[in-house]
Amino acid sequence: MDCDVLICGLGPVGQLLALLLGDRGVATIAIDRAPAPYTLPRAAVIDDEVLRIMQSVGLDRAVLADAQVQPGASIVTAAGRPVEVFRSRTGPLGHPPLVSINQPSMERTLLAALAQRPSVEVRRGVALDVLDRRSDRVEAFVRPADGGPSELIRCRWLIGCDGAGSAVRARLQVPFDGRTAPQRWIVVDALVDRPLAKVPHPHFVGSAAQQAVTLPMSPGRHRWEWMLKPGEDAEPRLRPEAIGRAIAPWLDGETVEIERAVVYTFHTRTASRWRVGRVLLAGDAAHVMPPFAGQGFSSGARDAANLAWKLADVLAGAPVALLDSYEAERKPHVAAMQRLATTMGGLVQATDPRIVRARDALLHAIDGTRLQRWAATNVKPLPTYGSGAFARRPARIPNRRTAGTLFPQSDRLDDRLPHGWAAVAVDDLAASLLAEEGLPVHDAGADGAWLRDRGLTWALLRPDRFVFGAGRAEQIGPVCAAWRALAAPVGAVA
Ligand SMILES: Cc1cc2nc3c(=O)[nH]c(=O)nc-3n(C[C@H](O)[C@H](O)[C@H](O)COP(=O)(O)OP(=O)(O)OC[C@H]3O[C@@H](n4cnc5c(N)ncnc54)[C@H](O)[C@@H]3O)c2cc1C
Repeated sequence: MDCDVLICGLGPVGQLLALLLGDRGVATIAIDRAPAPYTLPRAAVIDDEVLRIMQSVGLDRAVLADAQVQPGASIVTAAGRPVEVFRSRTGPLGHPPLVSINQPSMERTLLAALAQRPSVEVRRGVALDVLDRRSDRVEAFVRPADGGPSELIRCRWLIGCDGAGSAVRARLQVPFDGRTAPQRWIVVDALVDRPLAKVPHPHFVGSAAQQAVTLPMSPGRHRWEWMLKPGEDAEPRLRPEAIGRAIAPWLDGETVEIERAVVYTFHTRTASRWRVGRVLLAGDAAHVMPPFAGQGFSSGARDAANLAWKLADVLAGAPVALLDSYEAERKPHVAAMQRLATTMGGLVQATDPRIVRARDALLHAIDGTRLQRWAATNVKPLPTYGSGAFARRPARIPNRRTAGTLFPQSDRLDDRLPHGWAAVAVDDLAASLLAEEGLPVHDAGADGAWLRDRGLTWALLRPDRFVFGAGRAEQIGPVCAAWRALAAPVGAVA
């Protein structure tokens, strides 16, 4: 066997997956057909869940060093009135929920860290050619992107992180159903000498005449997006003088240098299966969505965090069925993010004057009310996985919905926990019973309040810091039995 895991595609999702596997010491090869990382910006924002995942690989501060925390986001109605639709406040995950980034800069940070993971080997300039799936391994034939003979890489598991046009997904003949939106958008990225005074945070401009999105990116960068009319020729609008005219109303003396202008069409699609035997899909290879909620890469990052520990545990001997929980958990959440992105897109892309009037009447009516403040802070709830790798018994666990939610970390709790499974407890009885079950037990610190508020004394946290089970002392036995059945080594390594 050449490696335990072969990652096909080293975009940001493949990079995160490789880092997470590297931290578990998993022998990993990551290939990418591009000779060098993609250098133009795509993802504009990431959220607090992604920053927590970055923290788990020791990179949240490095990513934040070239990022801008956004205070919120507004829709500008046709009357020119900005109404806040998202308010950013650091919540239970300990990170700001809306942060502008420069994707190439973030990827440079991830790739530099990857070079420090000895169990991960990166091979660039090689593309996946042929996949041969066997019962005990996958044989991948890869070919240098500039020609030359193909090479065989044998692995136990192969993960397709090769983007929306995934060759892995195509080889598996897995359908990628969904829709391609009829709208086309011009996306302009620019270098700016200082933050634009008129755009202090992301603006979705819902004018019936010209729908637009404009937002600060990482420090020194700004983005504008304009929706084209049906059938409109994009070429004249991509000319520098046309872009200059279009951005002029947003400027207040700032200097702008256009980096690129391109036309995008957005897709909402999901692979019908995310696992076929020993091959799995993650990131854009498994799902794509419009950018209006900033959740494309963020969803892929969650895939990586969800999948990495399951692969590591299965390679350490846990039952292979653990991997089936990956799609069961992630797919419904991706669908929720696709709905959110579609809703946001619908609000800004409205062209029918009646719909524009109705939207604006609603936004003006709620502006400044408690309903608006509530909506702005709850527009993107934290994931709560309904079914998957969680303790579901005994039925009398108080607050059963604790299982399947993200455990909080108000004071960087994760930094004090080891990679892998961990238990936290707020009393000595629970701590000693958990230790008897062979679990490393940690003080929950300030986050113990989360347990106490729910009448609980302990929680068993998965390696991705979702709560596997939580309860009082008497529930430790049954939950630990469920944990052993799910994740403990069964013997032969898969
Ligand atoms: C305009 C725009 C705005 C966006 N805004 C946001 C945002 O604000 N927030 C957000 O979270 N997301 C956003 N996204 C989405 C985000 O950029 C993508 O979701 C993200 O880049 C997907 O990462 P990935 O690693 O899954 O795939 P990719 O980044 O596409 O990487 C795939 C990699 O696989 C390689 N590859 C392909 N085929 C092969 C092969 N056969 N063999 C080997 N290697 C191969 C490619 O070279 C590439 O490096 C935006 C996207 C666009 C276009």
